[in-house]
Amino acid sequence: MAAPAENTAPSTARSEEYLARAAHATPGGVNSPVRAFSAVGGTPRFITSASGSTLTDVDGNTYVDLVCSWGPMILGHAHPAVVDAVRTAAAGGLSFGAPTVGEIELAEEIIDRVDPVSRVRLVNSGTEATMSAVRLARGFTGRSKIVKFSGCYHGHVDALLADAGSGLATLGLPTSPGVTGASAHDTIVLPYNDLAAVEAAFAEHGADIAAVITEAAAGNMGAIAPIAGFNAGLRAITAQHGALLIMDEVMTGFRVSPAGYYGLDGVAGDLYTFGKVMSGGLPAAAFGGRTDIMEHLAPLGPVYQAGTLSGNPVAVASGLATLRNATADVYATLDANANRIAGMVGDALTAAGVAHRVQFSGNLFSFFFTDSDEPIVDYAGVKKTQTWRFAPFFHALLAGGVYAPPSAFEAWFVSAALDDDAFSRIADALPAAAAAAAAALAPGEGN
Ligand code: PLP
Repeated sequence: MAAPAENTAPSTARSEEYLARAAHATPGGVNSPVRAFSAVGGTPRFITSASGSTLTDVDGNTYVDLVCSWGPMILGHAHPAVVDAVRTAAAGGLSFGAPTVGEIELAEEIIDRVDPVSRVRLVNSGTEATMSAVRLARGFTGRSKIVKFSGCYHGHVDALLADAGSGLATLGLPTSPGVTGASAHDTIVLPYNDLAAVEAAFAEHGADIAAVITEAAAGNMGAIAPIAGFNAGLRAITAQHGALLIMDEVMTGFRVSPAGYYGLDGVAGDLYTFGKVMSGGLPAAAFGGRTDIMEHLAPLGPVYQAGTLSGNPVAVASGLATLRNATADVYATLDANANRIAGMVGDALTAAGVAHRVQFSGNLFSFFFTDSDEPIVDYAGVKKTQTWRFAPFFHALLAGGVYAPPSAFEAWFVSAALDDDAFSRIADALPAAAAAAAAALAPGEGN
């Protein structure tokens, strides 16, 4: 039998040098906070290239990638069909500021996959998609208030930053300075999976609520799926009060099934937001939904929304190639890979005596360190878990060549490109990672 892998930490000298240099050019040295490893400490790896399931950093270390650029890379990195499509598009010109055929094709691909979506507008990021969807919901209903759920993240839209997950959860920020009272005033924040709280909010403010926005299945406070009847309940309550239901599928869209989470639970929103997978890793995103609502957008309607680079031909080519290569086999492989890794990690933690729960939102998954047998259904539940076990667990995985999300509050993302070598590297890294989680000390424990 092969000796267990020795998880000697790989050299990070060059990443450290680049981080020091980056810190003089960019706040914190990164262009999105969670990349800074703030929750886990240590040096963020500066990446030079990626192929299939593997990332390579500036020190020459390779890692099995279980972040996948936070979701987009379902086919794996540098998939030949996607790279070819991008090359061809780039050779034909980078941006025209005028309509292209590819934009129709990408919109049609989205409409074909997600039944409740009959019109699509392309934008450049998930944040832009949710910001635009909220503005449209307000313009369409003539109402001002928005309901969001604690621990759900919808990008860094002022009105949606309150009690958000993802980077805010990682950094422990209830909301962000710079968000004015006026923008926060119209946001009602409720506990996720709590229909009684939604009923109560509508009983009090129903006539003023333009929309409920929810992650179709939460993935930004770890993976927390809607409990049975929650999404359907949101559908019923919003319809009853003349408010819109915005399903944020930026993370789940085109990943957890060909039609995203809608393909799993069949609950129709009025508006949808998409990003990540539909761009294949370039900056593109979208929002869409019912025709009567979408036709309130300029130039047909009065709600203004625009973008110099929206529908960019290279990003569109990347998104189209990704979706067209995302076959039924790819979706079956994503599910199988997610189950296999979740099982492997769960078994390793159990073998090391670490109490935990594995939870799924479709094929997004995460691990909560907890002694409780109860499912975790909301952000308050997540905050009670033993998140202090996560940093040593994460660093032991990284030392063993496995790149997991650098925060206990983020979901894990698989690609269909994970191969035998990737699985054996994960298997080799797990015993030390589970032992590190077992040995972790709670704050205040030890010296
Ligand atoms: N909505 C959800 C559910 C997300 O997970 C994210 C990003 O992770 C966003 C919106 C924002 O997308 P972007 O980072 O592209 O602005």
